[in-house]
Amino acid sequence: MKSESRLKTLLSAITAVMLLSCTAYLWASEGALNPPDDGTDSLQDTTEDSDSGSASVASPADPMVDPAADHPPVIPLADAVTTADGLAEPLALLNAEIPPGTYKQLSWTATELFEGVPVSTPVLVVNGKLPGPTLCLTAAVHGDELNGIEMVRRIMHDLDPQKLSGAVLGVPIVNLQGFRRASRYLPDRRDLNRYFPGNPSGSAAARIAYSFFTEIVIHCDALIDLHTGSFERTNLPQLRADLRNPDVVTLTQGFGATVILHSSPAKGTLRYAATSAGIPAVTLEAGGPSQLELKEVKHGVKGIETLLHTLGMVKKKRLWGDPEPVYYRSTWVRADRGGILLADVSLGSTVRQGDLLGTITDPMNNASTRLYSPYSGRIIGMARNQVVMPGFAVFHVGIQTDETPANETGTDESAADDPLAEESGGDDYVDGMSE
Ligand SMILES: [Zn+2]
Repeated sequence: MKSESRLKTLLSAITAVMLLSCTAYLWASEGALNPPDDGTDSLQDTTEDSDSGSASVASPADPMVDPAADHPPVIPLADAVTTADGLAEPLALLNAEIPPGTYKQLSWTATELFEGVPVSTPVLVVNGKLPGPTLCLTAAVHGDELNGIEMVRRIMHDLDPQKLSGAVLGVPIVNLQGFRRASRYLPDRRDLNRYFPGNPSGSAAARIAYSFFTEIVIHCDALIDLHTGSFERTNLPQLRADLRNPDVVTLTQGFGATVILHSSPAKGTLRYAATSAGIPAVTLEAGGPSQLELKEVKHGVKGIETLLHTLGMVKKKRLWGDPEPVYYRSTWVRADRGGILLADVSLGSTVRQGDLLGTITDPMNNASTRLYSPYSGRIIGMARNQVVMPGFAVFHVGIQTDETPANETGTDESAADDPLAEESGGDDYVDGMSE
């Protein structure tokens, strides 16, 4: 891992840019969504999936950082990206040395297949000619999530090593074994993203996680883990970030107009393990599994390229429209009956409390059940039209205000009421809602 001072340098670089150029950028217009100032109100996030980790309730003792607060830069940006001699250093990674100003494709070999054949995964490295932080991009930790793979390809091959300050590591397919089988999971049905930072003598998943973490992740100064929705659900491009961590907050401020959802990471996720190791990490969710969605891919690429600019790593600036909101709370609306799901809203729709979200129709007796929004807010994730079972999480509503639920006995909305119930049993796979 890079030294602590390196990390601080990175973060102060981000902060400096924010302070220099973005006083009205992302947060200024989000006053209504900022956490309370008195530090006493707990901000409840009612998302029930442990994947987003947002089932937890932020206690007053663990306050969220006020994104609007000033974080005075310790080191000016110019100093942060330019060392005394103005020279970048070779990057030592995976038994290779990547000189400044070069691109290299390496291989990371995590484990062996049952046949004893090594499985190696490409690791793309651009070490810039100029000094700066190391940003890591990881995709397809879930093997059926394709959008991130294409994002990494576009970003890595668009970088010019001669003009880059710092280094970018891109791992397009972390879970190669899942990818080959078009599966979210490893061959043993384990979710790799529940086993970080891993264990060298644990299960296959724990060993893969350990190898990846110790050989690659610890070289990062910041990490972006790319995901999509799971099980035929799709997500509006959004950052999942623990807004109680000031380093993570700083990182989220570099992505341009991208929705941010506060969620404390579930233990075992790459985001959790990296952040715990002092490497600020966010998850970028965009689109759904098993498809390549160009609109979502383009949004992700633009967001990350904006981050590279914010970090002072590239000169190219990307322009955005109005900033997107930060959601401190969200909830899932679940199907109470099985049948044919047809949505009445689309991804990104703004909804009001009581609005019709979709209909589930029993194909045998033609009985219909309607799903209504329990809150005013935004559809930040939703199931594609499909046949659903009772209990399936269908609509993910980012909650705009502090309204109370529409009704206590809500036939459609049970998720918010028992956020921790099914998650409190341990770290094992639960619902696979996302990251
Ligand atoms: Zn995922």
